[in-house]
Amino acid sequence: MPTDRAAFAARRKRACEALRERGVVALLLAPGSDLAYLTGYRIFGSERITCLVLAADGEATLVVPNLESPRAHQIAPDLPQRTWEETDDPYALVASLVSARGEVAVSDQMWALFTLGLQKALGGRAFSLASTITRELRMRKDASELEALRAVSAAADRAYKRVLDHEFAGRREREVAADLAALLTDEGHEEVTFTIVASGPNGASPHHSTGERRIETGDAIVLDFGGTREWYCSDITRTVSVGQPDRDETGREVSRVHSIVLRAQEASYAAAREGATAEAVDAAARRVIADAGYGTYFIHRTGHGIGLDGHEHPYLVTGNAERLEPSMAFSIEPGIYLPGRFGVRIEDIAIIGADGRSEPLNRADHALAIVA
Ligand code: ZN
Ligand code: ZN
Ligand code: ZN
Repeated sequence: MPTDRAAFAARRKRACEALRERGVVALLLAPGSDLAYLTGYRIFGSERITCLVLAADGEATLVVPNLESPRAHQIAPDLPQRTWEETDDPYALVASLVSARGEVAVSDQMWALFTLGLQKALGGRAFSLASTITRELRMRKDASELEALRAVSAAADRAYKRVLDHEFAGRREREVAADLAALLTDEGHEEVTFTIVASGPNGASPHHSTGERRIETGDAIVLDFGGTREWYCSDITRTVSVGQPDRDETGREVSRVHSIVLRAQEASYAAAREGATAEAVDAAARRVIADAGYGTYFIHRTGHGIGLDGHEHPYLVTGNAERLEPSMAFSIEPGIYLPGRFGVRIEDIAIIGADGRSEPLNRADHALAIVA
C-alpha cells in the first residue's frame, strides 16, 4: 500500500472521474478491498456499519461508528468523518450525505444487512455494484502494488521450496498444510489464507478440503496455498510426487499429465500479452489439454486477477473479451482432474510487463518434484 496519503487521494479522484463518466452519483463502500484501495483503511466487517461515501463531485466522507473513530483517524487522517453513536441510525446518516439524485454503487462484498438498510434509507434509487467503477482502477497495478505482488509471490516460492524437504509419506494432509502455513508465515506472510493439500484421489477435487487422509508413497499431491503480505495476496500451486512416479502405470500417467499441464501453462504465457483478450489466454491452455485428450478433465477457468483480493478482475475465462494491458496481474493455473485417481495443477501469478509480454512472479521450479 502507498505510504503517501496523496496516493489515496489521487485514486479517489480517478474513481470520481469514472463515477461522472458512468452517471453514478456516489460510491458507498463498506469494509473490504475497495475501501482499502481508496483510503488505506483496512478493517474487518462487523455489524456496525463503516461506509465511505464518495460523491461524484469529489467529496469523500467516512461514516464510522464513534468507538472506531480514533482508529480510522489514525490510519486515514485526511478523511473527513461523520460518526454515529450506538443509538443513531447510520443509514439515515449515509443517505444524508448523498445529496444528488440518481444511481449509487455499493461494494460487491457489502453485507446484506447494510445493503438493505441503505436501500431503505435511499428509497427509490437504482443500486449497482462498485466493481463496475473500481475494477478499472484496481486491475491496473501501480508501482507499489507490483512491488508488493512480487515480494509476496517470492515469499510463497520460498515456502514451496522449503516444504519439499519435509516428510510427506505417512503423514496426514492437514499436517503438511500446517507445515505450509508455518513456512508462509516464516517467509514473511502476515496472514495465511488457504493451504490446500490434495493427495492421491483427493487431487481430483480442485478445491479439496484438506483433511485426515494419510499420504502414501506413489501419491500425486496438489499443493495450492497463499496468504497476504502488506495486504497483497500470493497464490501458487505445484504438484509433487511422493516417490518416483515411474514405479507403476498410474505414476507414469501422473508424469504424462504433468507435462501436458506444464505445456498448457506455457501456451497461456505465450498468449498472455498486451492486447490479447482474457479468453484467448484461457483458450491457449484449453487447446493443449484438449489436443492431448484430457479436455473434459480441465474443469475450471485458466485464471483470475489478484491484488488486494485473492480473486478479482480480470478473469481468464471463455466469454471475457476484455483486453490485457501492462501492469495487470493474474494467475495462470491450468489443471487436469481425473475423478477417483489424481489431479495435477500448476499455478503462477503473472503480470503483463511494460514491454507488453507476460512475466511470471512465481519462479519456483515447475517440474514434478519428487518428495519423500
Ligand atoms: Zn482455485
Ligand atoms: Zn491457487
Ligand atoms: Zn488461483
